[in-house]
Amino acid sequence: MATRDKKILILGGTGEARALASLLVKEAGLAPITSLAGRTSAPETPAGSWRSGGFGGAEGLAAYLQGETIALVADATHPFAAAMSANAAEACRKAGIGYVRLERPAWERGPGDRWQDLANVTEAAAALPRSARVFLAIGSRDITAFFARNDTRVLARMIEPPKAAPPPHIDILLARPPFTLQAEYALFKERVIEVLVCKNSGGEATRAKLDAAREMNLPVIMLKRPAKPDAPCAATPEGLRDLVVALVRAGKVL
Ligand code: NAP
Repeated sequence: MATRDKKILILGGTGEARALASLLVKEAGLAPITSLAGRTSAPETPAGSWRSGGFGGAEGLAAYLQGETIALVADATHPFAAAMSANAAEACRKAGIGYVRLERPAWERGPGDRWQDLANVTEAAAALPRSARVFLAIGSRDITAFFARNDTRVLARMIEPPKAAPPPHIDILLARPPFTLQAEYALFKERVIEVLVCKNSGGEATRAKLDAAREMNLPVIMLKRPAKPDAPCAATPEGLRDLVVALVRAGKVL
């Protein structure tokens, strides 16, 4: 089979997935298909072809992999997209094809950081000091966990508005990364933020909020990452490209 005929499915929804698609198309002569969850109304589309929407669990994805004669799945989903990664690893096992994953390095606390690591949003909502002014950077899906904390004042930043209208103590700020240190600093000052809640997403695009929190001596509630399946991993799109290309060249892909 020619290199171009080997179909590679990228699981996307991140900047790294777009970078990987571009590297595979432009540098490796491959023709990947990127899958997007279909949550954002105007997603940035990747190089190569793409599709959108869920597969219907691991079973549905296994059927898709077989139907589309996919030879390898490169999972470049967000570190917190745990269900998609678990389904993908299981579907690849079922379909008897390879599964590789991008693992973006987590953020590490440094001198001056006041982080509290918690397991989930329920714990985070319970841990907020009474009457605190909170900056929430966890996306739109999980903000319902903070609906009952009406003693606090919350500024919740996200890309798309939440499905359920939030109660009056939660203000929504729609914005798309990247964010700069200066802008984060100014925002926290203007809104008199006292505590941050965020996911340990890693990466540069959303890290400035942590640098601003350090400069302002603000506490941060840091949500720990969910477990992802064991798989050959790379930390960067370039590393994952090399892994994919090596597998294709070694004939280990189909
Ligand atoms: P999730 O909880 O792991 O996935 C829930 C379901 O959404 C999956 O079971 C799957 O539905 C569908 N899905 C997720 N990613 C998909 C993809 N790339 N292509 C097709 N279907 C997908 O995922 P999530 O946390 O909601 O994230 C959704 C998307 O947003 C992901 O692509 C992720 O990379 C991106 N994202 C997530 C975050 C975050 O904080 N979670 C942040 C930035 C970007 P079926 O079971 O029907 O197949």
